[in-house]
Amino acid sequence: MTLEYTNIEDFPEIVTDLRKTFSKNVTKSIAYRKQQLQQLYYLIEENEELIFDAVAKDFQRSRTEAWLGETALLKAEIIEFVNKLDEWAKPQIVETSIAYKFNKCYIIKEPIGTVLIIGTWNYPISLSLAPFAGAMAAGCTAICKPSEVATHSAKLIGELFPKYLDHNAYRIVQAGPEGTVKLLEQKFDHIFYTGSTAVGKKVMEAAAKNLTPVTLELGGKSPVIVANDANILISAKRIIWGKIYNCGQTCIAPDYIICERLVQTALIDSIPKVLEEFLGENIKQSKDYARIVNQRHFDRLQNMLLSTKGNILIGGDSDRDDLYIAPTVVTDVTKEDSLMQEEIFGPILPIVVVEDIDEAIEFVNNREIPLALYPFTSSKKLAKHILDNTQSGGVCVNDCILHFAIPTLPFGGKGNSGMGNYHGKKSFDTFTHERSTNETPYYVEKLLGSRYPPYTNFKIWL
Ligand code: NAD
Repeated sequence: MTLEYTNIEDFPEIVTDLRKTFSKNVTKSIAYRKQQLQQLYYLIEENEELIFDAVAKDFQRSRTEAWLGETALLKAEIIEFVNKLDEWAKPQIVETSIAYKFNKCYIIKEPIGTVLIIGTWNYPISLSLAPFAGAMAAGCTAICKPSEVATHSAKLIGELFPKYLDHNAYRIVQAGPEGTVKLLEQKFDHIFYTGSTAVGKKVMEAAAKNLTPVTLELGGKSPVIVANDANILISAKRIIWGKIYNCGQTCIAPDYIICERLVQTALIDSIPKVLEEFLGENIKQSKDYARIVNQRHFDRLQNMLLSTKGNILIGGDSDRDDLYIAPTVVTDVTKEDSLMQEEIFGPILPIVVVEDIDEAIEFVNNREIPLALYPFTSSKKLAKHILDNTQSGGVCVNDCILHFAIPTLPFGGKGNSGMGNYHGKKSFDTFTHERSTNETPYYVEKLLGSRYPPYTNFKIWL
């Protein structure tokens, strides 16, 4: 299926229209924001089956994974936005020193303006609409540019948007890379990008021309450190779940494991049992196992496997026509290996053997800062040691991915894995300008008058 792109010549007019709506303060009204957020909720709720169908066409993703990954958390977050909006949006009074006792000092929570949200293909609905909902809650006018790679999902959002949301304030623009480059030439007040680090750099470069602030939700190789004292079976279950969810095409999927040799041996013993328990004897037939999004990504993953010097001990089979790659574990992988050069973003799990935890920490620290870090250990002290001596966007101790699902935890990367964060209140903050305001009453002129020249009578009043 081909996706019909928005006419590039229309971009300036779309942005102008959204700016006009913004300048009329339409989206500033809290009642309006709540009503439109409710409409976004109905867009998802009333079309959930169509969303599951679209995502299944894009990746053969199971209904349960689509429900959890695309709609359930998103709906819960929209409800939270509606319920908390009054509290989040009200001006925040700040404390002052005695000298400003009679002044009124507060922060006005203003929508940042007209914003652009660029989504990615791996969770094509939620990773476009979750930041979009944050922009709506904050009172912005906004463009959503879904990923053209997940064609069916992008088309569906494009059809549903005008049926549910105010066309004067919220638009969908459909574009591939070339069109997105053109869209980025428009002036926005914030750009929220989810996707690869390489494109994230281009987005930031384009944004810099207008000094537009950016949030970049990028990728990277998220390591799993399994200590000798970890519960191997439970760890294997949680790591494998994180790896096979959406066929490994998750930004915070565990990318590789680092552990000592005895742990590698124990994991290799447990993982096949876990896979059979989760997906049955014939994984290809399992309805719960998704496919690689397209042939380009399939070939990229196959090339990684063809050139690895590690041992493919579990899985390894694939079918290009079906875009199927079995969950695959590769042992004794070195840092120079093809599997360790870039984010895998597929169901391949390399294991790197180290002498001890400190070598594992050093290994992580010698690479770009990852989006997530997953230490598995029964020792709180060891977990703290790992956290104290590494960096990452987020962390799950003894688990994978779950930190993303907890709305009170801000989600984002650091360094090459991104900048800025969102989810819950942080989404509202991302699209909000904190306008610092001071009101000085005329009656305090005597008290504050000593600041004027000539400074002969200057008294310290600060
Ligand atoms: P993608 O191909 O869908 O690209 C993402 C967006 O960038 C799309 O909307 C696309 O149209 C646009 N784009 C592509 N090339 C462009 C260009 N040259 N200029 C401007 N825009 C362009 O997705 P992808 O980049 O393959 O995404 C996968 C990456 O995204 C992985 O690294 C993954 O880890 C990361 N990711 C991060 C998060 C997060 O929350 N941090 C979530 C999902 C995915």
